[in-house]
Amino acid sequence: MAAFLNDQLDFIFFFYGLAFLLLGATSWAISRRRPDELSWKMLAAFGLIHGVGEWLDLGALILGDRPTYAAVRIGVMTASFVFLAEFGRLQLGGLAPRRWVYLPVIGLVVVTGHLAGPTEAGIASRYTLGLFGSLAASWALVRLAERLSGTGRFHARTAALAFALYALAAGVIVPEAPFWPANVANYAVFTSLTGIPIQLIRGLLACWVALSVWAIWGQQLASEVSSHSFAAYLRRQFLWASGIMLAILLLGWLLTERLGDVYRRNVEIEAAVDIDLLASRLAGEIDVAGALTKVLAASPIVREALEQAEGQVLAQANEILAVHVEAGRAQAGYLLNEGGATVASAGPLAHRPASELVGGAHDDGAVEPSAGFLFDAATNMIVHFTRQPVLGGEGRAVGAAALVVSIEGFAGDLTGLNRPYFFVDPHGVVMMSNVSEAVNRTLWPLNPATLAERASLAALDLEPIASAEMEDAAWVNFGGSRDYVRRRFIAGTDWSLIILKPTRQIFATRFVGIVITLLTAIVALMYLLGKERWMHEAAQRETQSKLQGLARDMSIKAITDPLTGLYNRLRLKDVLPREMARADRTGSALSVVMFDIDRFKRINDSFGHATGDKVLVALSRVAAGSLRATDHLVRWGGEEFLVVLPDANAAEARIVAEKLRQAIANHRFDEAGRITVSFGVAQYAPGEVMADLIARADRTLYQAKANGRNRVEVAPTVLNLPGPEV
Ligand code: GH3
Ligand code: MG
Ligand code: MG
Repeated sequence: MAAFLNDQLDFIFFFYGLAFLLLGATSWAISRRRPDELSWKMLAAFGLIHGVGEWLDLGALILGDRPTYAAVRIGVMTASFVFLAEFGRLQLGGLAPRRWVYLPVIGLVVVTGHLAGPTEAGIASRYTLGLFGSLAASWALVRLAERLSGTGRFHARTAALAFALYALAAGVIVPEAPFWPANVANYAVFTSLTGIPIQLIRGLLACWVALSVWAIWGQQLASEVSSHSFAAYLRRQFLWASGIMLAILLLGWLLTERLGDVYRRNVEIEAAVDIDLLASRLAGEIDVAGALTKVLAASPIVREALEQAEGQVLAQANEILAVHVEAGRAQAGYLLNEGGATVASAGPLAHRPASELVGGAHDDGAVEPSAGFLFDAATNMIVHFTRQPVLGGEGRAVGAAALVVSIEGFAGDLTGLNRPYFFVDPHGVVMMSNVSEAVNRTLWPLNPATLAERASLAALDLEPIASAEMEDAAWVNFGGSRDYVRRRFIAGTDWSLIILKPTRQIFATRFVGIVITLLTAIVALMYLLGKERWMHEAAQRETQSKLQGLARDMSIKAITDPLTGLYNRLRLKDVLPREMARADRTGSALSVVMFDIDRFKRINDSFGHATGDKVLVALSRVAAGSLRATDHLVRWGGEEFLVVLPDANAAEARIVAEKLRQAIANHRFDEAGRITVSFGVAQYAPGEVMADLIARADRTLYQAKANGRNRVEVAPTVLNLPGPEV
């Protein structure tokens, strides 16, 4: 599980970064709509910078790391934590320390980096800014929740919880270092306890925070537009967006994993081909000598020489031996007698005792068939020997023939190999390798029995490279990364050849999957955000038009008389000055007619108020029906009305008034029967103010009442109005 998840670290870094980038974008959007704008900008900066930081970690995984790159990443992480702490500090206000507190902390991180290195600087940054910044953010969100309402409060609280956990995951669990508490609470310990890399936990917490803040943003939007349908849409959209992002990440992860699988299978095939090639190359080096040894052992002259061990035959056998040594390009060839003593020898190393180059110290004097590798300390060479018994007449061994070849040629070929190889003896000691620091060390821990038996090996057993003996083919944790290992025993010996296929490039292959996932996520987000924006605008438009309608209704109500539906006095204040200005401008005439129902009190008294109201409504209809569309009829108040007659002089207005009088007098008002109305007409005198004009009409109406009612009186035309003073 841990090994599998460790292979997924690239994807974990990817979605971890993506989540924080989304947190940044959402916080930015929130900042533009809230009074505590600056603090949200700080959270936005944290999200964006930390998100980029995670993607830089991803880069290190794919491209490899370097101390300067590591220092840059620590710097980015530290900067992001400063912004996170600043979010908390601004939200907490007076409770928080002053801003200068960052100076000593950043100083500590820089000095640690200088003295100890980037890893230690990162740890210092996590223990200070990471831990306390996250805790401050968590606390700030708890307090913010109190100021939010409804689901906003809930989401702020869940975000606070996520940040509290993030404080532990990012500020307490740190890379391994040889001091407390980094030596007990670190990545390795966490993974061995839980089987999960801490980065996965952090990535999930990042998603949690991003979702919660997104929900706060939705709540903010919904509260601005008081529209139920929009609020419902936002809830749906939130669920959809979470679902879609989850689906994209899961599918993207499957795709990435699949690409990695294809790569892995290629690695396995390549490694199999490689080791076959190497093994056959080595076999070529030693098989000839093996075959020649058999031929030598079968030679009758060699047998005779070993049986008789005397002059003539021995000289012949010596010659045959020399020929075989040369043909097999051997370092040495020996003929050994029954007791294992050297009878004849040839080759460049012929002066060396056979016991040192053939069969080793363990089987001194033996003549059985044997083959194997040996490290020759005197020449600092690895040699391969083959020993074959020479059989006498009765099928009994009378001695042995042996050839010793060097494998220098094979070693020369291997130096060109661009991936690590190890040629190991039966105990796991690396005898030959292009990884120079591995030579003369055990590749895996020695088993205790071997160690007890061969105490001299203990010195080679320091820090074995792999944790256990390798099988024929395996994915192993090799010096920190998970690599493919292929092992092959060399024919007839306990020695084996091991090649290692580093799989750093697997991340490059998987990166294609990550990029596809990212692009898909961007497209989905653009769609979702575009839709959200569109819906937001539509909801805003809807609310706005509702408000406008309401305002229109209100203003119409304000200028309309509720009983008769006529315009009221308020409206007249609009209409009359306009008509007066027009008359001034065009020089046309303008008149007003004021009229009042005669003895209306009696109608109320005799038939009741309701009948009086009906009379007012009916009279309005009759009057409006007798007027032109350009005339304005308003209810002045009570049972008094006023008509504005554009383009009418006093004489013309009198005619209109007379027409109205007759129309009303001739109308039957249901129960109320016949009623009459009195009229006062006044023509507008250029420059006259509205109140004066109305007052003249009112005075004239009063005259009509005084003169017996049911009649029209006309105010004398005012000719000489004093002009406006200059
Ligand atoms: P005149 O104008 O001919 O002198 O006599 P009048 O009886 O009409 O006298 P006045 O103007 O003093 O009385 C007006 C009455 O109109 C008083 C009030 O009760 C009545 N009135 C005013 N507004 C309304 C209304 O909206 N509905 C009803 N039913 N009566 C109203
Ligand atoms: Mg009246
Ligand atoms: Mg009146």
